[in-house]
Amino acid sequence: MSFPPTLFAGQRFAVVGLGRMGLPAAQALVSMGAAVVVWDDNVAARQAAAAAGLEVRVPDMAGLDALILSPGIPHRLPAAHPLATAALAAGVPILSDADLLFRAVRAAGSWARFAGITGTNGKSTTTALLAHILTVAGVPNAAGANLGTAALALPLLGDDGVYVLEMSSYMLERIAALRFCAATMLNISADHLDRHGNMAGYAAAKQEIFARQEAGDLAVVGIEDEASRAMAAWLRDQKATVVTVSGSGPADIFADGAMLRDRQGLLADLSACPALPGAHNAQNAAAAAAMALHLGVDRAAIAEGMRSYPGLPHRQERVGEVAGVVFINDSKATNADSTARALGCHDRLIWIAGGMAKEGGIEPLAPYFPRVAEALLIGRDAPMLAATLAAHGVPHRSVGTLEAATAAAWQDARAGLAPVVLLSPACASWDQFTGYDQRGDRFRALVQAIVRQEAH
Ligand code: ADP
Repeated sequence: MSFPPTLFAGQRFAVVGLGRMGLPAAQALVSMGAAVVVWDDNVAARQAAAAAGLEVRVPDMAGLDALILSPGIPHRLPAAHPLATAALAAGVPILSDADLLFRAVRAAGSWARFAGITGTNGKSTTTALLAHILTVAGVPNAAGANLGTAALALPLLGDDGVYVLEMSSYMLERIAALRFCAATMLNISADHLDRHGNMAGYAAAKQEIFARQEAGDLAVVGIEDEASRAMAAWLRDQKATVVTVSGSGPADIFADGAMLRDRQGLLADLSACPALPGAHNAQNAAAAAAMALHLGVDRAAIAEGMRSYPGLPHRQERVGEVAGVVFINDSKATNADSTARALGCHDRLIWIAGGMAKEGGIEPLAPYFPRVAEALLIGRDAPMLAATLAAHGVPHRSVGTLEAATAAAWQDARAGLAPVVLLSPACASWDQFTGYDQRGDRFRALVQAIVRQEAH
């Protein structure tokens, strides 16, 4: 189903920031009959928008219904974009495209429900998992927003449909109408503090996912960290319906070893769910189960959805197996915290790491070093990582490129050094790649070449 072409007739919007979200948002608003002006500080982005038939100019705020500002462009900290300042001065609301999706769905007369997911880590996995469970259960659904498809590029669903939206803290600062009938806040650790001022500001943005919830709506909160536990307590004070989830300890839905349980009993055996390894994924699975139950999915469909969930690329993705050696692409792990999750899943491995290190480097990973048979280092900060590994007596080599690292890893794994080769860089990729996805795609291609070569 598509949205009626006159849905937003007579309304005027400016879309600023024409990236993955802005361009489709502008096009969708035009297709719904709105008058739309677009802008981007980057000339190439403006040219692409003009080529797509959009009206490109610096927007005049007078009479605008809303400014749709790309999540990457600040309206407060560290420095507000001048057009955001102009909008605020003119009393024009600054909104996320997800808010506009909600308005469009309701304006089109649909009572489709909205599920929202936020948190520092695990958003994409939980979003994709819930959508997959809904599909297994036969519930029409559309997933996107911060993950994959931009919110306003999602199709119109009927009353029985469910939108599953991954919400970043940047998007949550810009919603005014959107009401999630099931919302999850997974965890909070220090991140994006330049934009939110401090931890309190960051937590406040995340808490917005529960704003406007009504009686009968569900608030799901991970309780693995202190800030999240405080949020769960606050929500209970507000008389919200709260379900706590945990991948490791007691909660309303929790993992007891590999068994995911709630008060009624077993929900799923996570050891039979290959794309959900580790306690962190148990937290994601618990959150997805809480929301699915609230949305009316039966327990058998939840278990089956978890079992058949295919996983997302670049997050502990199995990209090949040759002669008993498993290759895993965890390129999305750009900091030590994420890499810890992956290292914890294997007893003995060859580890490919490196790139542009984050503050603190890989020192926090020391508890996992005994599992590392050998580390192969790439990228700009290989010397810094090598120094940490040397200090802990971990065998390692600096090999420069991902190509060299993959070849060396295969050679040593084949010789029996370890049954697993893991790319989990604990570093950003920008020194050698356009992003973590290009790095992971390259690794997958290199592994597939090895698989083909061995098959001959
Ligand atoms: P996000 O979309 O929030 O970045 P992803 O689902 O893409 O999260 O997972 C990114 C990485 O974060 C994973 O590879 C894993 O290392 C880590 N991670 C995933 N889920 C969790 C969780 N619930 N708690 C802590 N870390 C997690």
